[in-house]
Amino acid sequence: ETITIQELANRMAERAVDVIKLLMQQGQMLKINDVIDADTAELIANELGHTVKRVSEADVEEGLYGEPDDPADLVPRPPVVTIMGHVDHGKTSLLDALRETNVVAGEAGGITQHIGAYQARTPSGDVITFIDTPGHAAFTSMRARGAKVTDIVVLVVAADDGVMPQTVEAINHARAANVPIIVAINKMDKPDADPGRVRNDLLRYEIVVESLGGETLEVEVSALKRMNLDKLLEAIHLQAEVLELKANPNRPAEGVVVEAKLDRGRGPVGTVLVQRGTLKVGDVLVCGAEWGKVRALIDDKGDNVDSAGPATPVEVLGLDGTPEAGDRFAVVDSEARAREIAAYRQRKKRERQHARGVGAKTSLEQMMSQLKEQGRKEIPLVVKADVQGSVEAIIGALDKLGTDEVAARVLSGGVGGITESDVTLAAASGAVIIGFNVRANRQAREAAERDGVEIRYYNIIYNLVDDVKQAMSGLLAPTL
Ligand code: GDP
Repeated sequence: ETITIQELANRMAERAVDVIKLLMQQGQMLKINDVIDADTAELIANELGHTVKRVSEADVEEGLYGEPDDPADLVPRPPVVTIMGHVDHGKTSLLDALRETNVVAGEAGGITQHIGAYQARTPSGDVITFIDTPGHAAFTSMRARGAKVTDIVVLVVAADDGVMPQTVEAINHARAANVPIIVAINKMDKPDADPGRVRNDLLRYEIVVESLGGETLEVEVSALKRMNLDKLLEAIHLQAEVLELKANPNRPAEGVVVEAKLDRGRGPVGTVLVQRGTLKVGDVLVCGAEWGKVRALIDDKGDNVDSAGPATPVEVLGLDGTPEAGDRFAVVDSEARAREIAAYRQRKKRERQHARGVGAKTSLEQMMSQLKEQGRKEIPLVVKADVQGSVEAIIGALDKLGTDEVAARVLSGGVGGITESDVTLAAASGAVIIGFNVRANRQAREAAERDGVEIRYYNIIYNLVDDVKQAMSGLLAPTL
């Protein structure tokens, strides 16, 4: 256990130079970034009149995210929506269009700021929060970091183009996260728009829209002509009602960072989405490995606000460093505690970065023991194969393996080589990737190495099924 002089000084709120002087008096010539061991640190701390409490990992994180709320304290909150879909199908246009409709609806303040998320209103006045960074990467990387942010995915499909590879990817990501999908069939203004084809295409991915007798809400829109945006907002509201989204606003705030940057004038700026509680100016918070005292909160209209409740995105000023998108934040009761947790996480982060070189892997074996610990009963898998027939055969065979206690869950089954996107999905879900008669490309291999995702290759279905079967029974065949 070691600590840098800088960190020790920070934690005691003393000047590093005073620490160095003390060490010098004891015959140690050290610089600000040098490390000292825990005993020396304790000595110095005592010397400076601090009481030392060595904290264990559990101490630091424990209680940070508070107890579950009493159901009696929960009140309805707006849904949080992410827009996903194939490139050029109109995600950005739709986000912009929905944002502008909102301004037309008479909100004071005019044009909204881009802060990474914004709120819009349905014609009947219900609030909806949109994550303003379209795309799967944002969605999945947040999920990979344990942050469940999105309640509903709006899947944009261009009516003149139909279901495309990234549409399928988006479906898989939303499914893996257990988030309901609403289909927005976009570009309906185009003469070659064919919404019927979109509906039929989606059937192949087990999305049955309402007009075909299914349960998935669908809306035909045109982001360009601002057509049916009200209907889309209403559909989102309807879906949200089914989900009965609630949160307790009367508690210290917790939530997630959706965007962060270092602003020249304002310093580190993080856009956070409050998930429960209410964030207020003056609150002390820990945000990933950073901490700060909230100097100002700025909403999506660019206005300063005093507080932000559940599902409300705000920019936070006053952090000591720039957090990362996907970091969780929590309000704590003192600056000392905030500093301690942040310092601890900084250290962990460095250790992780160091360990990454060594390569931690989600092997089937590890996965099973993790699943056991969590009491989970599913083995998440991403399956890629050379032909559709193989994909179906594999999924069918894996289905048959399932028992009441444990089952394989294929998050995504597709034709083609293993790509980086497969790895992202697997990493976010703690899944293993199975390649049947296909290989991973270079980017995928690098990503798998980086994220510690196991890729297993097979060319005989029997072997594949057998391995999964053994994994299920906890008796794993030696890693290939
Ligand atoms: P993204 O890549 O999914 O974010 O797609 P964009 O929003 O950037 O849109 C891609 C292109 O499609 C742009 O040239 C848009 O102007 C165009 N586009 C988006 N929505 C519509 C629409 O409803 N109708 C028509 N005709 N074009 C659209």
